[in-house]
Parts: sequence; structure tokens; C-alpha cells
Amino acid sequence: MFIIMNVDATAEDIQEVIAVIEGAGLQAKVMEGSQQKIVGVIGDKARLATVPIDAMDGVEKSVEISKSYKLASREFHPQNSVIDVAGVKIGDGTPVVMAGPCAVESKEQLFEAAEIVKKAGAQFLRGGAYKPRTSPYAFQGLEIEGLKYLAEARERTGLRVVTEVTTVEAIERVVEYADMLQIGARNMQNFGLLKEVGKCGKPVLLKRGLAATIDEWLNAAEYIMNAGNPNVVLCERGIRTYETYTRNTLDLSAVAAVKHLSHLPIIVDPSHGTGKWRMVKPMAFAAIAAGADGLMMEVHPNPAKALSDGPQSLTPENYAEVMRGVQKISAFMKAENIHSMDI
Ligand code: PEP
Ligand code: MN
Repeated sequence: MFIIMNVDATAEDIQEVIAVIEGAGLQAKVMEGSQQKIVGVIGDKARLATVPIDAMDGVEKSVEISKSYKLASREFHPQNSVIDVAGVKIGDGTPVVMAGPCAVESKEQLFEAAEIVKKAGAQFLRGGAYKPRTSPYAFQGLEIEGLKYLAEARERTGLRVVTEVTTVEAIERVVEYADMLQIGARNMQNFGLLKEVGKCGKPVLLKRGLAATIDEWLNAAEYIMNAGNPNVVLCERGIRTYETYTRNTLDLSAVAAVKHLSHLPIIVDPSHGTGKWRMVKPMAFAAIAAGADGLMMEVHPNPAKALSDGPQSLTPENYAEVMRGVQKISAFMKAENIHSMDI
């Protein structure tokens, strides 16, 4: 951390800053700029977390150099993490696919969707039992009944189950029925929820917040990891921008950024990322080429009848076509030893 002093900072101001730094058990080094003095701080800056340095007399601003997240950072964990979800490995070089309806609507709908996604090659069945809907009048999910259908679908197909948990109170129930807990975009900075899923004992899929920076997203992962759960997988699902043609702007550059900054696996959700089923295929292909560790896609037996997110849901036929392409791209990259990212 550097503390940049005002042009007119006095010798006493600088002495005060040094005293605070040394008082926290850190080292201070004063550097002479052409107009201003800069105080370098050496040591763990967390010790200064409660000191309002920027408010001290003579201080222009403080500038962070090292990252605020550690456990999620590649600096502290250079090797890629491979997350094992009930025997399925995420991040080992073979992309995983999580597919299924936006919401669990009925037993029949879910079982049909499960067969469809299994047949074309998914490893995970997705489907919301607790739905974070923008409108309180929209379908809110089947809750516990939906969780039971998901667990039954797992028994029938052998697929792993990933489903969203929206409240601290529901964690215990979701843990009972799911293999992986999803934290949705709207809850990415629900710190109470993050801390609790950090203690739940099951892997967590952490979606990027609607308007979250990569730094905020990795800090959210840090909350879960710091609470004792190292099994976090990130999911890029698009962010809010000024573009209105698509539901969100899918930030595929986040795949490369996260691979550089973090050891955690990252998957991409082109369904919520675009909001349009026609765009799911090209963005799914691009995500795999960019080095994503997997995909999350919405698939419905009959998207026109879906209770939520029909316009972005793939039909069984379209899903099978996307999967054929994904498998070919991934096999080609493996055979030709193509890696998108030199970490
Ligand atoms: C979902 O995956 O069901 C979902 C609600 O997505 P997001 O949190 O990314 O909006
Ligand atoms: Mn959805």
C-alpha cells in the first residue's frame, strides 16, 4: 500500500502517518516525489483495516497494491483448483455442463428435462426450487417440493443436482437434496448468506452479481472460502450495461481475467448472459474456446410454455445441437493441445 501525501503536507503530518503505520506493527518507507512525498507500507495491510488513513491530515489518498482477497487469489494458490462435486470434477480440463429448466415447475416437466439433458451429455441437472424473481407476482418456485423432485431426478438419471439457495433459512434443506448450492446473481453480495454457505459442507456455484466487478466477485468467493469452504466455482452470467438488445452483456473476457487472478474454476451461463436462445449456441462455443471450465444452460421440454425464462431456454433439439458443437470444440482443443490462457 502507498500513502500519497498532499503537496502541502507538513513534516508533522508525515510523522503522524508513520507513527500510525509503525504502531500497527508495519514498516513505513518515505519516498520523495518531485512535488509530493509518498509513504510506502510494508507488511500485512489488513492490520491497518480499521485505521482511516485517508482521513488523516496531509493525506491525499491511499492506493492498494496487493489484492483484498487471498484465498481466492492465484498468488496464494498458483495451481488450478479442481472442485469435486459428488465425483464430477470441475476444472480438470474437460468442460462440465449444467443444464435444465430455469425453474422446477412440476415432476413431469423436471423428469422430462432431466432425460433430455442427460441424453445429450450434461453432468448436472439445474433447476430452481427457490426463484429470485424480479416481480413478487411471478412464479416463485415449488420450494421443498421442487427440491424433492430434483433429488428424484438425480436417482433416475445419475445427474448431479445444482440448485439455488436464496435465504439462510433454506440452506439446510437445500444441502439435504442438492449436490451443489448456487448463489444467484442477486445474492452475490448477500454477505450473511455467503458466510453461511461457507459452513454448509457442499460445493458452491457463485454467480457474478448483476453489476459486480471482478474484484467484488472474487471478494464474494473469499467470504465463502474464509468461512471454511474451499469448494467454490464461479459462473459468469452477464452484467448490466447500457445495451438493451440482450438481457445482459455476457463478459467473456471475465473468463480470461479470472483465470489470471484466481485458481478457482469458472463456468459461463450464456442463457442468462444473453436472454435469447438464439445466442446461446455461439456464446457457448465462444466460452469453451475462451477456456471456460463448463457451461450452465437453460433447457425446457417446451420453452413456449415455461413459467420462467422461456425466451432464453433451448428446446431439446437445439440443446442437442449446442452440445454436439461444444463436445467437438472441446475435443479439438484437447487433441491440438490448445490452451486459451497462459496463466
Ligand atoms: C438462475 O440460474 O436460475 C438464475 C436466477 O440466474 P442469475 O442468478 O444468474 O440471474
Ligand atoms: Mn432463469
